[in-house]
Amino acid sequence: MKEFSFLTRQQNIEKLQSEHFDILIIGGGITGAGVARDAALRGLKVALVEGNDFASGTSSRSSKLIHGGIRYLENLEFHLVFEALNERTKLFQMAPNLVHPLRFMIPIFQNSRVGMIKMGLGMWLYDALSLFQTPQMHERLDYKESLMRMPILQDKDLKGSFEYSDAYMDDDRLVIETLRSAHEAGAVIVSYTKALRSNFSDKKVSSIEVQDQLTDKKFNIYCQQVICTVGPWTDLVGETLVDDWKSILRPTKGIHLTFKKDRLPITNAVVMAVEKGNRIVFAIPRHEMIIIGTTDTDFSGNPSNAAVTSDDVKYLLQVTNQYFPNAKLQVADIVSSYAGVRPLVKDESATEGKTSREHIIIEDLRGFTFVAGGKYTTYRLMSQQVVDKVIKNYNLERRASLGPCITDQPLNSMLEPEQYHLSLIKAETQLEKKLAERYGMEAYQMIAFYGNDLTSLEIEACHSIEKGLCFNLVDFFTRRTHEMLAEKDHGLSQLEVIADLFQEKIGWTEEQKQQQIEEYRSYIKAELAWRKSFNFEAL
Ligand code: FAD
Repeated sequence: MKEFSFLTRQQNIEKLQSEHFDILIIGGGITGAGVARDAALRGLKVALVEGNDFASGTSSRSSKLIHGGIRYLENLEFHLVFEALNERTKLFQMAPNLVHPLRFMIPIFQNSRVGMIKMGLGMWLYDALSLFQTPQMHERLDYKESLMRMPILQDKDLKGSFEYSDAYMDDDRLVIETLRSAHEAGAVIVSYTKALRSNFSDKKVSSIEVQDQLTDKKFNIYCQQVICTVGPWTDLVGETLVDDWKSILRPTKGIHLTFKKDRLPITNAVVMAVEKGNRIVFAIPRHEMIIIGTTDTDFSGNPSNAAVTSDDVKYLLQVTNQYFPNAKLQVADIVSSYAGVRPLVKDESATEGKTSREHIIIEDLRGFTFVAGGKYTTYRLMSQQVVDKVIKNYNLERRASLGPCITDQPLNSMLEPEQYHLSLIKAETQLEKKLAERYGMEAYQMIAFYGNDLTSLEIEACHSIEKGLCFNLVDFFTRRTHEMLAEKDHGLSQLEVIADLFQEKIGWTEEQKQQQIEEYRSYIKAELAWRKSFNFEAL
């Protein structure tokens, strides 16, 4: 696949200043990435600017689940669940290296708000709404069977449980892979370039002024239409782009904690019901760690400032210890944490948890389209709807020249499900196994190209620099790999070696390298600042 590196970024910055685009997308989370891929594959001339690193917003801060959303059944949001389950089926085919089936257990206790019968009906409905395209049908387990499958579960007052299927994913890497696919299809994509304001001609948007965050240079990008996919920043960006913007969001904050797998030995995810606020919290086992989350509290201000608080930590620990009292999880067991902001659209709901996860697409006669709300799981469908709308603004001849939506195809040819399966079978060494799981057939190209004598992390660093538009250490350790979240030292033992590789490939001076190292250390301290209130050092 094509190079997608710092050099590509420099070339793209030139193109953004000299070419005219059909559409300019603002925001490089999963929604922007999905729209860019769809529009470019149909034949539109596409540009995308992201103000920070790709996926640095909500799209790397989710529960990392591709799911129908079992709890939305209670809100009677059948349409949302149906759509999401349908998209789940597609994502298994599109990115088998990033979306993995996972079994979920819902334990039912004497005092559970939803009993065995009602939950059983919900389970049938969930499987039916997927049109029975589920990795495995749900099962009803009695008290004994539940504890056999999950020995560490609270047994007091346990009546039984249900198991059903959904999926876990790499939210950050799915954004990068979607953008790589858009880049292959011709989209001109840059990170660290922020949209500042709009310019108009004949009451229509003619260009957007942006600022390169690396050089501070400002320039205009000329385009026919602008699509704003800035998630929880929608109101903030809307206000700067159009003077009559009316706020549409009700953002809520959600946080997650991560643990080593041996501190909570579960093989299935567990859905933990919280009576207060009628919420659920997931305990999610993955390849590399256990994630526990999430919370759901109203949030105001700039989403970049969302942070984990000591109250958030206490809340999640308390819920988890209620379900797994023998695990005795403590603050000291927490490996890492992250906070994100949901870009929910305002409705009349009384509580945060009840606010709908449906998305909206707002079109403006001046040539803007704003997309907000929705779930990660349904990004592909949302993107398709956005591009369908945008295309309607062209005349018949132009529309006829464009292809159909083909985004349900695998994100790249090396990720066809059979190819992925083959890549796993073919793996002989530990290195091959680890990389094939994460990259499918591309792993073998990476090993052949970068050499067998490097560690898997070093190979991933080379790959991220050349194919993942990664040019700083924070982005590598947080969004191209799992070191920040899954490793107790957050990858610090590898920091020097990886910094040397970046220095060699990007051409940093010694001073730049040291600055990068310090930036990653400061990032860890800031993300884990809540530890101080428990008298723990962040590092
Ligand atoms: P973002 O990912 O936030 O992208 C917006 C981007 O716009 C950002 O990268 C930002 O830097 C950029 N930007 C902002 N201003 C500018 C500017 N002026 N110029 C250029 N760029 C700019 N969904 C699921 O399906 N499954 C889950 O398990 C799940 N769990 C969740 C848990 C939590 C705690 C949260 C908060 C959300 C969860 N979601 C989940 C929802 C899902 O994560 C979001 O719906 C999705 O990530 C939103 O993506 P986005 O691209 O719209 O926004």
